[in-house]
Amino acid sequence: MTPVERLQTMLNGLGLKAVEERLEGLLEQASKKEPSYADFLDGLLSCEVDARRIRYLRARLQLAHLPFVKTFDQFDFAFQPSIDERQVQELRSLRFIHEASNVVFLGPPGVGKTHLSVALAEAAIQAGFGAYFITAHDLVTDLGRAYREGRLDRRMRVYLAPKVLIIDEMGYLPLDDLGATIFFQLVSARYERGSIILTSNKSYGDWGSIFGDPIIATAILDRLLHHSTTINIRGESYRLKDRRKAGLFPRPDEDNGRSAPFLSPQSLQNGPRRQGSAAPRKTSAPLTAPGRSTDSN
Ligand code: ADP
Ligand code: MG
Repeated sequence: MTPVERLQTMLNGLGLKAVEERLEGLLEQASKKEPSYADFLDGLLSCEVDARRIRYLRARLQLAHLPFVKTFDQFDFAFQPSIDERQVQELRSLRFIHEASNVVFLGPPGVGKTHLSVALAEAAIQAGFGAYFITAHDLVTDLGRAYREGRLDRRMRVYLAPKVLIIDEMGYLPLDDLGATIFFQLVSARYERGSIILTSNKSYGDWGSIFGDPIIATAILDRLLHHSTTINIRGESYRLKDRRKAGLFPRPDEDNGRSAPFLSPQSLQNGPRRQGSAAPRKTSAPLTAPGRSTDSN
């Protein structure tokens, strides 16, 4: 066995795969450049550390269940002038994660709500935070099943553990009583502990219709919005832009006002926001929500 082969066997045994793979190249480079012993070791170990970091990030990305990976650099802000770029820059600093504050993207389909949520999740993962992506419908279906099987608390931990939870497409489908109650419990449990990034095609004023009950809707919004940033996107669908160019769809200004502006969170404060503020804040049983009795489930 040559010395290099012996080294490779030992590196393999130690699990230093990246160094093992690049050993010959690193040795050849060292014989040409003649670095100091410290620099040589630095280069050798950095190669392993970098490879591990990439593997770790890849694993974290996979665990996050993102529907696609897109970044801020791939987002054309010029196409969506209603977005305040400074607000997005502030989010990119990830301060909101340190503060366990929430982010809500509101707007009609195709305006980039999921893209921006995914980009924030990707940035969070790069910075070492755990993230998990799920649609509101899948979330409520999963937790509803866990509740019926008597393992809600255990299953809830999956959605409480990551520092960033992305809940996509809130409001496309209305929630039943159990779904609304479970959603309330999740938002309460994450309140001031972990960030939620949420996307919705419904303005806050219409959330009563998602939950079928304005009291639970205000209780959820109360916690969700207490520390939060809302990005209200009032533009046209990026998906339709090419088809629109081909004249297949009318422009939004020819849309008879169907793309009505979304309400601001402030508008809620004139509504019955405080009604639900005495609601329970724990996830533990019994399963309760404001204005509902436990046996309604
Ligand atoms: P929404 O979640 O609001 O329905 P998406 O984020 O899924 O919309 O966007 C639809 C598609 O269009 C995605 O492939 C997304 O990457 C792309 N897209 C949307 N807005 C932009 C934009 N301003 N610049 C670049 N791509 C965009
Ligand atoms: Mg979307």
